[in-house]
Amino acid sequence: MNEILNRDIKFLTGVGERRAVLLGRELGIRTVGDLLYHFPFRYIDRTKTYKIAEIRDEQAAYIQIRARIEGFRHAGGGPKKRFVAIVSDGTGTAELVWFKGISWIEKCLERGREYTIFGRPTLFKHELSIVHPEIESVIEGQNKLRTGVQGVYSTTEKLNTGQLGTKAIYTLVCNAWQLAGEHIAETLPDAMRAQYGLMGLREALYNIHFPTSPQKLREATYRLKFEELLGTQLHILGQRSGRITRNDGLLFPKVGELFNTFYRDKLPFPLTGAQKRVVKEIRADTVTGHQMNRLLQGDVGSGKTLVALMAMLIAADNGYQSCLMVPTEILAAQHFASIGRMTEGLGIRIGLLTGSTRKGERRELAEGLESGAIHILIGTHALIEDNVRFANLGLVVIDEQHRFGVEQRARLWTKAGHPPHILVMTATPIPRTLAMTLYGDLDVSVIDELPPGRKPIKTVHYHDSHRLQVFGFIRNEIRKGRQVYIVYPLIKGSEKTDYKDLEDGFESISRAFPLPEFVTAVVHGKMKPADKEFGMRMFKEGTAHIMVATSVIEVGVDVPNASIMVIESAERFGLSQLHQLRGRVGRGSEQSYCILMSGDKLSREARQRLGAMVETNDGFRLAELDMQLRGPGDLQGTQQSGLAFELRIANLGSDSQILQLAREAAQQVLDADPQLADPAHAALRDLRQRYAGRQEIDFSMIS
Ligand code: ADP
Ligand code: MG
Repeated sequence: MNEILNRDIKFLTGVGERRAVLLGRELGIRTVGDLLYHFPFRYIDRTKTYKIAEIRDEQAAYIQIRARIEGFRHAGGGPKKRFVAIVSDGTGTAELVWFKGISWIEKCLERGREYTIFGRPTLFKHELSIVHPEIESVIEGQNKLRTGVQGVYSTTEKLNTGQLGTKAIYTLVCNAWQLAGEHIAETLPDAMRAQYGLMGLREALYNIHFPTSPQKLREATYRLKFEELLGTQLHILGQRSGRITRNDGLLFPKVGELFNTFYRDKLPFPLTGAQKRVVKEIRADTVTGHQMNRLLQGDVGSGKTLVALMAMLIAADNGYQSCLMVPTEILAAQHFASIGRMTEGLGIRIGLLTGSTRKGERRELAEGLESGAIHILIGTHALIEDNVRFANLGLVVIDEQHRFGVEQRARLWTKAGHPPHILVMTATPIPRTLAMTLYGDLDVSVIDELPPGRKPIKTVHYHDSHRLQVFGFIRNEIRKGRQVYIVYPLIKGSEKTDYKDLEDGFESISRAFPLPEFVTAVVHGKMKPADKEFGMRMFKEGTAHIMVATSVIEVGVDVPNASIMVIESAERFGLSQLHQLRGRVGRGSEQSYCILMSGDKLSREARQRLGAMVETNDGFRLAELDMQLRGPGDLQGTQQSGLAFELRIANLGSDSQILQLAREAAQQVLDADPQLADPAHAALRDLRQRYAGRQEIDFSMIS
């Protein structure tokens, strides 16, 4: 980019050292160009002036009124001290309120004069008030009054107190434009702009900040979204072709003794068609000479663990070690036990490493790993620790990967001298657009078939007032030999919320389901590992009929005889979490139930979530809906799994069409010029670089 655009923001008129530090720290704005890429997040229409009587409760947006000052008053004291101006426009009255800068504002305003007032109204008991409005005398403002559509910029609390509110940022953007506007050079090739009908960059940046018409604003937005998504796709597709063209993938040519014996003698049931297909895909990946980088999506209960085990056996057949990393100790212990059981007599050694593995055991594990005596290591985050070294790590399996951060994953790759094959497994389906952006470099396998004989889970929603009926139902099911999970959003309640908590819940459950007929076990995140394990074991062995828990049991826990999942204060959970929890039941042949308990008053969104759960068992549909309801930024896991770059303008939830086109355009360019080496592509190279960011750590290590 141009020199002026790269100029340090502190040299811009109106900034200086102190504000430059604030802008950098709070908004990541370090150069003049950064500021021009700090887009308004919303626009306000100053072409319309409202009448006070017109303003309704739900009018959350900013509005403009024109009114005369009728009087003033001081109110409150201490931190609540405020200055109030009462205004009227003939249709009604409103209060303008200032908490800060009172003495100054008091001097500026004049009783009886008419002002243009601009701000965000609140209605309380039909009284309209506007806190800290923008205000301009109609006479004085005649010339300079801003009209038309104007951008509102995001700021932060710290920026506001540093006199860098949205208005100040607007002024700085004006200054930046004056300085640099002329020097903005096009980033996209002409042919691409023509093909996709994209506005020029200079015009787009102008219109995004200072829209000249709604149409121009739409075109500018489109162009900038396209550019942003193109940048991400150039980066991701480039990484991918780098990995594919490199020929340093480990080779697993043999399907040997271990795999075959397991398949023939140990497999407890026939594989589903989908499991077979995925095992084949993995085998195909590991004989190409390229590193495998595969995402395995399969709904809860679809049998991903078995697929992982078979892949690890192939690695062992070829003389390589594997590790299986999972998000919780409970899950690690469970996999260790079940994989141990399934591979008994095969002659392979399996290790378990978690945060609570004792020192002596650790030492033993370390020896086994370094000598190659341990074939498969199962564990939690503890696997990432520096002192874990493998002799020849060939395959890394990450279960429920959304729980791991980008950097954690990256550290695991470095444990091998040679990049190991990667299999990432998740039960939280990732909507297509998100997958293309987050995991564009991953090949995707899907297990879209549940093991035979499973009955679809029946999901119902009850309000707390029907608790007795629900308890009655549970009692009957337990007497038929079933087991029940009851999950709470919190361990301990607080005065502030009405949500159910585990401590109270356990008490009332113990009363409603008394010993000796009923036994209740407890598991939550704050318990000591040994106690947790004890609770799990009681439930697994069937000694306990009821498992009272927090969402620690959300992922992976497998107790086929448990057929009822009760989720307390279900409105508190996100959709994907609810679906995960539901997946804990329905694993045996009995009819299973998921009972969502909630308070009587629900927000619209909560009602939609619970409604969707009742309506469908399809994880993919729920994931799409979740993304629509919450936006991709909040999707569980998105943050942790690291959208390493920040999207400033595009929205993965609603811009999937633009993403599709941008991806196509990126592929077209890369097909012709894989390295973007052509001087005509210099600007595209810069663009790609902008979205490489921190992700480099991750993907360079994978590839
Ligand atoms: P997830 O995909 O959620 O990790 P699991 O691997 O925990 O699912 O498997 C769920 C249950 O299904 C386990 O009890 C497992 O033993 C069983 N299972 C896996 N594959 C099959 C199959 N092909 N036929 C029958 N049961 C299976
Ligand atoms: Mg699992």
